[in-house]
Amino acid sequence: MRIHLACALALVLTSPPASAAATAAGPPRDPTAFREPELVELVTLDATIRLDVRYARADNFTGRAVYPQARVFMQRPAAAALVRAHRALREQGYGLLVFDGYRPWTVTKLFWDLTPADQKVYVADPAKGSRHNRGSAVDLTLFELATGHEVKMPSAYDEAAERAHVTYEGGTEAERAARDLLIDAMSREGFFVYPYEWWHFDWKDWRDYPILDIAFESIPAGAAGTGGWTQLDLASARAIDLTWTFDEKTPYWPTSPSGFELRQLSYGPTPGGYFYAANSLCAPEHGGTHLDAPIHFAEGGATVDQLSLSQLIAPAVTLDVRPQARGDRDYRLTLEDLAAWERRNGRIPAGAVALLRTGWGERWPDRKRYLGSDVRGDASDLHFPGFGAEAAAWLVRERGVVALGIDTASVDHGPSRAFEVHQAIMKAGVPAFENVARLEDLPETGAYIVALPMKIAGGSGAPLRIVAFVPSGSR
Ligand SMILES: [Zn+2]
Ligand SMILES: [Zn+2]
Repeated sequence: MRIHLACALALVLTSPPASAAATAAGPPRDPTAFREPELVELVTLDATIRLDVRYARADNFTGRAVYPQARVFMQRPAAAALVRAHRALREQGYGLLVFDGYRPWTVTKLFWDLTPADQKVYVADPAKGSRHNRGSAVDLTLFELATGHEVKMPSAYDEAAERAHVTYEGGTEAERAARDLLIDAMSREGFFVYPYEWWHFDWKDWRDYPILDIAFESIPAGAAGTGGWTQLDLASARAIDLTWTFDEKTPYWPTSPSGFELRQLSYGPTPGGYFYAANSLCAPEHGGTHLDAPIHFAEGGATVDQLSLSQLIAPAVTLDVRPQARGDRDYRLTLEDLAAWERRNGRIPAGAVALLRTGWGERWPDRKRYLGSDVRGDASDLHFPGFGAEAAAWLVRERGVVALGIDTASVDHGPSRAFEVHQAIMKAGVPAFENVARLEDLPETGAYIVALPMKIAGGSGAPLRIVAFVPSGSR
């Protein structure tokens, strides 16, 4: 068996080998990796980037396809920088041809297991993970725009030889110039070349991203990149404000110690001769139109400031249980409701927000009618519809929704004691939008949501300004 591919396999020359026991478990956790991962498919940012994903075919050192799909992902800032490098190269008549980017940890583990002991120094130790596992490394070369041909470099991709070193003086002058042009274009955008492999580049912030083991098939194409937006023409779309105004009448949870308080600091003419108004505000996080961050019901979950924009800006599907809730004010969305919705509208796309329309919006802000009880300090007799726990878990697990939203005070129905829906989705890192206004105005499909919470450091929730864009063609 041929073991070149130091890079394909990775940068381990600096890492000591690990014990077998350490590799037996899942991906290692890097406690210093503080950035929220956001894998983006390169071609959704720029369709002119070319791919040659050998790990999705059998012509790689394993002799089999180890990726189920020929796709390349990187963390969003690295992907954006790569696109800039690709575009800068256009002037010289070149583009980027990408072999590999994000690699699930399980594949790194497979490479390790397939490699004989005396060759393991050339492959990434799964106990440490690789920079590819962090979505922060990329293997690529140049192609010629005019012909589409791969540009000749001093060595082949994945060749473990001196020819692959970035300081190699052999080969033709044109080959060395092409290599140096690639390195220069990537370095300008924040990538560092690996000295022994001209094709391998690490993103400058690779240390900040965790080691991931997300399968390619479960990474949505549209929502992660810009694909989901391509059909929305902002100029002709109708914008709908799905936010209730905050004031002293805004309902908060019955056990909340306080509600929304706005205190006047100044109002009127000043000695300087100009008018001046300013207030201070104080409110619990969870009340009015607001967001629940995963930490609300999941220890270690993301806080408001850590949510990625792809969870907050996404296509929406609107589920409707108004008829059911009219007969049962404690109604919960079921798997059968979801099946019926998909029979009508097709499969719920991965990366969408699922909004539940119960009709409760027309009861706002009448506490007795909206919450089922207006007794302050007592949450034991609440009544309003919600998601069912099974349906919510299915939306997250089987359809890859990125957030749930509802036009009641909670994604769990009023009588809930254990908040099963909150627990299920937040353990999966999925936030919730509650007390969402005017869901009557949304189509079942076709709308896009922009839901931006106040960015409170460490917040378990936050007031939310949420709007929908509805394409002109939608009803
Ligand atoms: Zn909340
Ligand atoms: Zn909640």
